[in-house]
Amino acid sequence: MKALKIRVSGIVQGVGFRPFIYRIAVKNHLKGYVLNLGGSEVEIWVEGKSESLKRFLYDLKNEKPPPAVLDEVDVVEVQPAGHTDFKILKSGNIVSKYSMIPPDIGICDHCLKEILDSSSRWYRYPFNSCAWCGPRFTVMRKVPYDRENTSMIEFPLCEECSKEYHDPGNIRRYHIQGISCPKCGPKVFLLDRSGALVDVKDPIVESAKIIDEGGIIAIKGLGGFHIAALASDDDIVFLLRKRKKRPQKPFALMALDLSTVRKISSPTRSHIELLISPQRPIVLIPKREDAPVSPLVAPGLSTLGIMLPYTGLHYLLLHETKDKYLIMTSGNKKGLPISKTIRDALRELKDFVDYFLVHNREIVNRADDSVIRLSNGEPMFLRRSRGCAPNWIKTPFKFDRVVVAMGAQIANVGAVAFDHYIVPTQYIGDMENYQVLKYLEEALSFLVKSYKLDLKSAIFVSDMHPAYDTTRLAEEWALEHGGEHVKVQHHHAHIASVMASLGLKPENGVIGIAIDGVGYGADGNIWGGEVMYVEYGKYVRLAHLEYQPMPGGDRATRYPSRIALGIIAEKLGNDYAVKYARGLDLYKGLPYGNRELRVVISQLSNSPRTSSIGRFLDSVSALLGVCYVRTYEGEPAMKLEDYALGGSVLDNLTIEINNGEESVILTGDLFLEVLERMTKDSRRDLAFTVQYQLGYALGSTAKEFLKEFNAEVVIVSGGAAVNEIIMKGICDAVGDKKKIVRPLTLPPGDGGLSTGQASIANFIV
Ligand SMILES: [Zn+2]
Ligand SMILES: [Zn+2]
Repeated sequence: MKALKIRVSGIVQGVGFRPFIYRIAVKNHLKGYVLNLGGSEVEIWVEGKSESLKRFLYDLKNEKPPPAVLDEVDVVEVQPAGHTDFKILKSGNIVSKYSMIPPDIGICDHCLKEILDSSSRWYRYPFNSCAWCGPRFTVMRKVPYDRENTSMIEFPLCEECSKEYHDPGNIRRYHIQGISCPKCGPKVFLLDRSGALVDVKDPIVESAKIIDEGGIIAIKGLGGFHIAALASDDDIVFLLRKRKKRPQKPFALMALDLSTVRKISSPTRSHIELLISPQRPIVLIPKREDAPVSPLVAPGLSTLGIMLPYTGLHYLLLHETKDKYLIMTSGNKKGLPISKTIRDALRELKDFVDYFLVHNREIVNRADDSVIRLSNGEPMFLRRSRGCAPNWIKTPFKFDRVVVAMGAQIANVGAVAFDHYIVPTQYIGDMENYQVLKYLEEALSFLVKSYKLDLKSAIFVSDMHPAYDTTRLAEEWALEHGGEHVKVQHHHAHIASVMASLGLKPENGVIGIAIDGVGYGADGNIWGGEVMYVEYGKYVRLAHLEYQPMPGGDRATRYPSRIALGIIAEKLGNDYAVKYARGLDLYKGLPYGNRELRVVISQLSNSPRTSSIGRFLDSVSALLGVCYVRTYEGEPAMKLEDYALGGSVLDNLTIEINNGEESVILTGDLFLEVLERMTKDSRRDLAFTVQYQLGYALGSTAKEFLKEFNAEVVIVSGGAAVNEIIMKGICDAVGDKKKIVRPLTLPPGDGGLSTGQASIANFIV
């Protein structure tokens, strides 16, 4: 006879963990108890034969409920206490650990089965959920995750649900805070554009009919509204683009099931694993040539962003439509966060849609859909939000003071940090409007409140960019709370975010390749093609891409022909630039065509300069005629990568590196070389080679510094780290793939930045 006292921490509450422990204890003939400790921690006492205890520990690890995450399992042998049965004890109040805010979980197979089973009491019930699935974060008003702290409190359990809630034998519903049924749970309604109720028998069936007939519908989901429409009809997609004033940016699709996914795309096994994961992200998958999807869904791209239904409501709706897949794009007005309340949606989305399919459960916290793509076989976050946020990241060091990190400007995410944790917010968006800034403040305040953080002596950290709204926000919060405002260099933060999420110890420095579109540099230029030596508390800039001009500043970002012209003019003179621009169609990318050429050249002398790989790729994209105007973040460079797929490396097209105090990777000469070879070489191969050689140059530089700085790994981060061709170049140059690390639990783009900012702040203050 032996006894074990086990403490388990992680995501162990609200996921059916205690009934599971009860079940495996009874199955293995063990006595004792299981007890919620109030935090994200559970205490288990088991006693019995040592063989049974072994089996219990095996079951604990291998048969746990799907959404449970065991961060730490601490097992101590104790004296048997002579328990006579196994009990689920009432929750204790001995909070020794922070309680993790659980993220939302996509509908599980069991709940789906009940919805489709005409004999089940959840038949066609859009809000069915259980221990293993359903909303969490998006319905939480405060911690801990108890029903009275969520928007489910407005729906008191009916007698049947209550019975199941109190039955320890019911693994999926015992003590599960979010359960409900058609009798006691939320309901769906159909509204017209004026907000008036449309009296129909089944709002979901009716919505599907409207969509099939060409209508566009706003749908209230889990973390906000979507806009749904047929994806197979050019006219409808065109109409939606016109209404949303969104000419090119791809629309996400939702497909009923995997067989529908296969009808429109060619997923690999890794794509499928991501699609069916409990987070249910949007996954970028190669489009099938014969896909019956309108080319206007993702113009100029060979992939489609696809997700599976993650609530009963989505499933039932798609099931009723003729196509079984729909456009399911974020329901937000340009520049605003995703619409959350019915009232917001009626105001913000009424110009885009014909009807509103809504429900009466409050969305407390917004959560946009997460987006993942594969890059060289590795899943990379383009956006980490619903299903993943606000999971915390455990850090290999302790935060001496509370840190609040504001992130940067585009696709922004904030974060709070304390103890051994960094908690990034959900995706917030581009900080161009007051409403988005306010949303960032709300999301941060929710975390501050949930983790009971005292901001009095906190560190408020922002980017170094003096004009970012988030820089001002950090300043304001510091003044208001009395803490300190510190500024962190953009690319330093990109690399440090990966170090923290990987658990790298403070004593280990790394070589970082930080490649992206824009980041304020310490010398006042715009950086974005950087090789650095990085520790949490410091960085040394070792090499960068050659500075190129951005005539007209932000206009050069929107019209990359301007950068192309600038490079040619600086290298070959103004007259050549004009001549090439006319011959090469570069003028096509300028709103005023030929007339604008001289203006661009006259702006050269006082134009900002950038080492950004994004801007350089944009200029090549314009040069090769792939994309002349940027209508969304990253568009010309993304289309260039897509265009180059299947290309090969051309001989004798390499990049020189000028080794000085800081090495400079000479992109200007490469650009001219491409210009010269455009008449004889394939444009696809040129596009491929440029990206590959940029990667190779960055990689070979990094490799040299690895030795010099005695570092173990090269971390590649920043928005361009998802580019497969650049990565291939980097890998070939470094040689040893195991030495190259990319962020896997955070977006390499600016969505990961606040995590890096927080980590750095802890070491520089
Ligand atoms: Zn379920
Ligand atoms: Zn009920």
